[in-house]
Order: sequence, then C-alpha cells, then structure tokens
Amino acid sequence: MHSGARMSSSAWPARALADARPSVFWLDDPARPAALPPLHGAVSADLVVVGGGYTGLWAALRAKERDPSLDVVLLEAGQCGDQASGRNGGFASASLTHGFSNGMARWPQEMAELDRLGAENLRAIGETVRRHGVDCGWEETGELSVATAPHEADELATLAEDLRSAGHEARFLDGPAVRREVCSPTYLAGLWEPQSTAMVEPARLGWGLRRAVLDAGVRVHEGTLATGLDQEGSGVVVRTAAGEVRARDVVLATNAFPSLLRRLRLMSVPVYDYVLLSEPLSAGQLASVGWEHRQGVGDSSNMFHYYRLTRDNRILWGGYDAVYHFGSRIHRSLEQGPTHQRLAEHFFTTFPQLDGLRFTHRWAGVIDTCTRFAPFFGTAYRGRVAYALGYTGLGVAATRFGADVALDLLSGEETERTRLQMVREKPLPFPPEPLRYAGVQLTRWSMARADANGGRRNLWLRALDRAGLGFDS
Ligand SMILES: Cc1cc2nc3c(=O)[nH]c(=O)nc-3n(C[C@H](O)[C@H](O)[C@H](O)COP(=O)(O)OP(=O)(O)OC[C@H]3O[C@@H](n4cnc5c(N)ncnc54)[C@H](O)[C@@H]3O)c2cc1C
Repeated sequence: MHSGARMSSSAWPARALADARPSVFWLDDPARPAALPPLHGAVSADLVVVGGGYTGLWAALRAKERDPSLDVVLLEAGQCGDQASGRNGGFASASLTHGFSNGMARWPQEMAELDRLGAENLRAIGETVRRHGVDCGWEETGELSVATAPHEADELATLAEDLRSAGHEARFLDGPAVRREVCSPTYLAGLWEPQSTAMVEPARLGWGLRRAVLDAGVRVHEGTLATGLDQEGSGVVVRTAAGEVRARDVVLATNAFPSLLRRLRLMSVPVYDYVLLSEPLSAGQLASVGWEHRQGVGDSSNMFHYYRLTRDNRILWGGYDAVYHFGSRIHRSLEQGPTHQRLAEHFFTTFPQLDGLRFTHRWAGVIDTCTRFAPFFGTAYRGRVAYALGYTGLGVAATRFGADVALDLLSGEETERTRLQMVREKPLPFPPEPLRYAGVQLTRWSMARADANGGRRNLWLRALDRAGLGFDS
C-alpha cells in the first residue's frame, strides 16, 4: 500500500497498538521446546551444520534421509528456529526464485525446470510434515495477490496470463470478485494462485524439524556460536567458544548473520521486516472480511504488505518497510520501530470494518537480501564447506531446496539441481559502506516514489533493472 490518500485518518491505529507486546507470537507458545545443552569440548562428526533455522534443520534431516548412518552435529547460536524461521509470515511458497517474474527475468530458459523443482519441494515439505506428525497448521490454501492501484491491476492481469501460459493455475479476479474473497474497499483486482503456497505456523515447523532431526540421531547443540573454520587434513574444524567439531563436511546455514566465510559478507545484507498480530476476530468481524479460503494475501506494490489468518483467526500483518541499518547491524533493539505504527495505519485503511480491533504482538526479524532476491549457493575449503543463503524474504519452503543443493555440492555429484544456471551463478555483491547504505536508501526511496507515481520507475531503478540488480524484501 503506497498512497498517502489511503491512509487511515482515525486515532485508532495508535490506540490499537498501545498494549501490543514486543514479542514474537509464534515463539510465545507453550509448545516451545526446552533448550538443548551447548557444546563443550572436542567432538568429531561426518557432517557439521552451522545454524538451526530451516536451512540447517533441513540440511541435517535430508543428510540423514539420504544416509541414515551419517554422523551429524548441528550447532545453533541461540535456539533452533528463534530467528527468521520462527518469526516469519508462514507463506510456504513453491517459488524458488522469489516469484515467477523475478525467475523469468533471470533464468527464462530454465523456469519450467525451476517451477517443477519448486512444486516438488513444496509437496515434499507437506509430506514430511504429515510423516512426522508435525502440528504446524499446514494449510494448502494458495495465495491471493491484490491490486490497490490501477497499474497494479494491469500488472496482475498480465501476470495471470503469463502464469497460465507457463502451466500454472492462476485466476484473475476483478474488483467485485476479489472483494468476495477478502473484503477490503482498497482492492481493485486480484490474482489467486490456489496451488502456489501453503500456510504454516513457522516456529512449529522449525520445532517439528528439530524433533525429526533429534529422532534421526543428530546431535544438536544450542547456545553454541560457531566462531571460525580451519582446514585440517582433508576435513574442516569448526571452532566454538567452548569446543570444536572436526568433520569431513560443513553446511553453513547462517542466513543474515555474519558468515564464517568473510568473502560472503558483501553478498547479502540483513534487512529488518516488521510484523503485527491482532487479537482473534469475533465471528462477526471475520464475516465482515470474508476470507473463507484462508489464503495468504499480499498486495502488489514495491513496498508490499503480506497478511494471513492464524489458527485462532487473528490477522498477522507484516511487510511494507524493509529497513537496513548502517554497517549491516543486527541487534535486538532494532526489532521495535516506527514501522509498527505505519503498519497499524495501513491495516485499518485496508480493513476499516475492523476499527476497534487491537494488536497483541509486534516484532521484527532479519532477512538476508541479495541483489538477485533468490538464494545462492557455493562451496569453500576445497569443496568441504557448502552454503545456501540469500532467500530475501522467501525462504520458508525454498530453504529445503537450499539444503538439498548444499548437500549435493558436498557430494561432488552432478544433480538436476547443481546443473541449474540458477545454482551455478552468483549474485553481484553489494558495495562496501558507506556506499551500501546510500545505495539501499536511494533504492527504497525510489521504490516508494514509484508506488506513489503509478509504478513509474525513476532513472536509478531503471539503471538497476538494466544491471539485473535490486533491493527487495
Ligand atoms: C518477519 C519475517 C517474515 C518472513 N515471511 C516469510 C514468508 O511468509 N514466507 C517466506 O517464504 N519467507 C519469509 N521470511 C523469510 C524466511 O523466514 C527465511 O528465508 C528463512 O527462515 C531462512 O531460514 P534460515 O535457516 O536460512 O535462516 P534463520 O532462520 O535466520 O536461521 C539461521 C540460524 O543460524 C544461527 N546462526 C547464525 N550464525 C551462527 C553461528 N556463527 N553459529 C551458530 N549459529 C549461527 C542463527 O542463530 C539462526 O538461528 C520472512 C522473514 C522474516 C524475518
């Protein structure tokens, strides 16, 4: 949502936020498991995974699924699933490319293959959830994109045709039809992709994967920050504050956090994404919105919002600003900010019929944005260390694919994944500071202006487009 003219003018948004707790709704759950003990002393393993978000947990699980005899250790600085993987919107998208349009712009010749692999990947996540009995509210609802400006309606109509010609199920909805799905006076059109996305409760998915990994015999150490890597013989040593792991292979799954490989530190930037969560809607409030198909919803501006219902019919409402802090700073104090107030205003502009609804939780998390918006992969230490990073806000499902790619790369075998140009190519890095900060701010400012100007992109954005570069969340 971009237009100042559509801002809610009542005083309610500020009051609606007054009692919101600065904590992550998904992590604030009695199902949260107790922490596992940190690593003390020296141990060895076949594979050590650094990072216990979805990428690391999938890497450990997929490694055991491929070879149950493999000895695997996972090191997590905090608790598994506490970072992006436990605080996201829970849109598990089949897209491996941060959306069809981004994929088509970059890898048109292999989009059919990427789409097939993405659909298989999403299906496999659903199967894993069912096989392990993970109670994470997995709902195969699809996703609804909504247009709140005329140029966005045109873009959605074109996208619907492009998707259909690529074999996807995509229904273009005019104003009345989209408002019958989810009722907002701001909607001008919509695009419903019923197969593209499943909704999930993010932290519970992470905890379910952690349980599956433990059941498979992986040794998980929480509260264990990996501080460095060293080559040793044909393997690698991962150092921690109070111990070390000697292993043949290492998967780095540290997402937006400073990489143990210095050369990766300019490849992505940590960007804060903000979220609000409402109290449960009453039956009457829910009826006023409709939303019978419970799809994930996203609007179509550059500075977009994403939103969804929870199991108990609260609304999670996130996005809009993607905030980068100078020097790639990550700190707990940055998880609260003025974006929450803006999000509250936009919420009541979208759903004026919910005036009076309160927010109970407000939080933020970091995403790892890279200049191509889609994950990238690689190896170091003579092929003994592999990484998968750069999901740029669309990693709930793509992390399983990323984990598989990392394991493929360590195996040294060519697979349908490692053959992909998307996997072989790397994005261009961001420049060092202070240029990085200036570039990101200029891009964000230009994107907001484009939203307010009927989608017209200024010289800076057009230059970035030509170079295949960008900044997104
Ligand atoms: C607010 C928000 C909303 C989002 N919404 C969506 C969405 O709806 N759909 C979607 O597809 N994606 C979404 N995303 C993105 C998605 O959550 C991520 O792409 C995904 O969770 C990345 O998983 P990961 O395992 O790579 O990273 P993380 O979950 O960040 O895990 C990395 C882990 O590594 C650990 N770590 C880091 N350094 C070290 C070290 N040196 N030693 C040990 N451990 C270390 C960290 O503590 C962390 O637990 C969202 C992200 C945010 C923040």
